[in-house]
Amino acid sequence: MFIRSAFATVRPPATAATSQPIYMDNNATTAPDPSVGAAMQMISCAIYGNPSAGNYAGKLAAGALRAARASVAQSLGGVQTSELIFTSGATEANNTAIQGAVRCYKTHGGHSDTAKPHLVTSAIEHASVYQTHKMLEETGDAVVTYVPVDRTGHLDIQDLIKALRKPHTILLTIIAGNNETGVIQNIRDISAAARECRVPILFDATQLMGKYPVYPVDMGASMLTCSAHKFHGPRGIGLLWISAAYADSSGVCPLLCGGIQEAGRRAGTENVAAIFGLALALEKALADMARKAEHVWKIRTRLEMGLMRAIPGVKFHSDPVWGLYNTTSLYFPRAIDSRRLQALLAEHGVSVNVGSACSKGQRSRVLTEMGVSEAAEGSTLRISLGPQNHSEEVDRVIDILADAYRALAVIASAGETYA
Ligand code: PMP
Repeated sequence: MFIRSAFATVRPPATAATSQPIYMDNNATTAPDPSVGAAMQMISCAIYGNPSAGNYAGKLAAGALRAARASVAQSLGGVQTSELIFTSGATEANNTAIQGAVRCYKTHGGHSDTAKPHLVTSAIEHASVYQTHKMLEETGDAVVTYVPVDRTGHLDIQDLIKALRKPHTILLTIIAGNNETGVIQNIRDISAAARECRVPILFDATQLMGKYPVYPVDMGASMLTCSAHKFHGPRGIGLLWISAAYADSSGVCPLLCGGIQEAGRRAGTENVAAIFGLALALEKALADMARKAEHVWKIRTRLEMGLMRAIPGVKFHSDPVWGLYNTTSLYFPRAIDSRRLQALLAEHGVSVNVGSACSKGQRSRVLTEMGVSEAAEGSTLRISLGPQNHSEEVDRVIDILADAYRALAVIASAGETYA
């Protein structure tokens, strides 16, 4: 009854009788891998002990947790298991890292009251990073420099170095792969700049994890975050990797206080099944990664070529070569409303997005910072593919999108074009 009422608000697509729904919003979340779901269900039902309890059931759970932690440490290129903290997602991981670094500086840094910590970040971060910085500014706990990006969405390294050289700089936080545009930052140069200025880096690798090999040590990171539901794992579980060297020298105060779980760095009984699901989903994402990446890259190319043929004048914010290989961020020659386009696609059972699911209903800060006009931004659509998508779906979406665009363009004011 309760479950039925949850579905009652969603109308089935008009074309449901003839075709399957098409899911192309994989940067928002991904379809859970069925074998991950099955393993989690088994653990939830059979290994339900509290891993901190010293009894038999607890030891079983602690064993499952240990195995999952070892697997994740391996998947991240052989990091230490003690460097991993499981959280409720990338949002909590980012908050823990940033707020924790500020608090540690204040409590253990031995600095005078007047020396506020200085944080450096970019203007195009995910809300969980951006809003955390804004909050720390508003409460007077930190001073923040937001390094701007150019028209392609990349940070200017000289601007970055200037910001990093400011006194009391304690942390640089950068989104490695952007969820809205798919822009991947120049990680090597950013890392080199931070190393030169002796500033630790937190990489938000949420959109890279599962799509590329992510080895935080090789990236020059001190901390790194991600979320399992972006790589076909469960929702509500993520991780924060803190290098042992950084933890020893600076440290991160816990966000949640309470028990001594996660070595006292994140209180609360561990969600063993979800952590196991994260570890398994990551292993599965890494297996056969190159083949899956090639497949997704090919169908995205087919999508972009098809859209350019079907809708003359369509343009892209995303980078077809250097960006996330699954992400297309496009806008149209007429100032149509992409929310209406999204709604028309939904009538055909097609799920795409107009931007970040975490900033629904707001203007895109990321596109605004890239210098995109309000009109172009308003007509922007994000299509993020996954290995489960195939070329027939792509062809259908091209047809549906082109028809929907033409229908909206007719009612859009004539001559309203922009560069
Ligand atoms: N960072 C990035 C880059 C993301 O794309 C997201 C999810 N949209 C997050 C952080 C937050 O992840 P979660 O909602 O799972 O906490």
